[in-house]
Amino acid sequence: MRFKEALSRAAALLQEKGIHCPRLEGEVLLSWASHFTRPMLLARLEEEMPPPVHFRFWPALRRRLQGCPLQYTIGYQEFMGLKFKVSPGVFIPRQDTEVLVEALLDRLDPGRKWVIADCGTGSGAIGLSLAHHLSQAVILATDVSPKALAVARENARLLGLLSRVIFLAGPYLKPLKGYRVDVLVANPPYISQEELASLPPEVRWEPLLALSGGEDGLEAYRHLIPEAPKVLKPGGLMALEIGHLQGEKVIDLIRSSSSYQDPVLLRDHGGRERAVLALVKHSLQRG
Ligand code: SAM
Ligand code: GLN
Repeated sequence: MRFKEALSRAAALLQEKGIHCPRLEGEVLLSWASHFTRPMLLARLEEEMPPPVHFRFWPALRRRLQGCPLQYTIGYQEFMGLKFKVSPGVFIPRQDTEVLVEALLDRLDPGRKWVIADCGTGSGAIGLSLAHHLSQAVILATDVSPKALAVARENARLLGLLSRVIFLAGPYLKPLKGYRVDVLVANPPYISQEELASLPPEVRWEPLLALSGGEDGLEAYRHLIPEAPKVLKPGGLMALEIGHLQGEKVIDLIRSSSSYQDPVLLRDHGGRERAVLALVKHSLQRG
């Protein structure tokens, strides 16, 4: 069988399952199975597919047809141009979150030795991208999931960033007790109970812990917003990803804690609310 035939067969099966871009996904799976880049694969479609590629390709395609997300099937997701390993049990980084990382890169001088906490680091997407671009920064990457921390550590190793990242296990800001950071960034779970029920089936392969933000989706913000000023230096920056309808409520939570200057709401490229930034006041009385 030639690559071309395997690809048509895969695209047809993926389409039957209602998968959105069947031809593209077929190409991604086949490139992965053959260790080719996509352009390399497309240039060799007429060639016979060697046996080792068959052994990798068909079982992976079967998993994908069973509904397993493409990223878990091939084992990685790109984020900020970097490759992040992912596996079931760990949240798949989303393109949407790049808005938050870009907003921080716009504001942070790359020559300074920032201390940055990434709370709920998952695969390490946010913290490790920041470490990659801010070559002097030290990252404290926390998560309540040991599985996530193990994957984040492996990603730090693969990206050559291990020496500047500290991994800490525990809920919310508890593992940061005793630290003072310049920036606290988080993409916490923020899906409400109601919304959880309507998520596409693929998302259900991801850990509920990474998605569920309690009854109204705001539980994590109720912890992080009042606790963050104890961990941030005066003048420090809190940067939170939010759900697209949560801007007003998260801003209310920030305003009701008297520790912050006026927050800023950021939107994504589609114009939807995506993140909130707030600076801790300089004159804060600490308890
Ligand atoms: N930061 C990663 C990203 O943007 O791709 C992962 C974000 S995922 C939406 C949320 C992460 O928070 C998950 O890795 C989850 O394990 C972690 N998490 C959930 N509840 C937590 C808690 N109470 N304290 C710390 N981390 C938590
Ligand atoms: N953006 C994710 C989704 O809709 C949710 C991320 C989160 O809860 N932080 O699948």
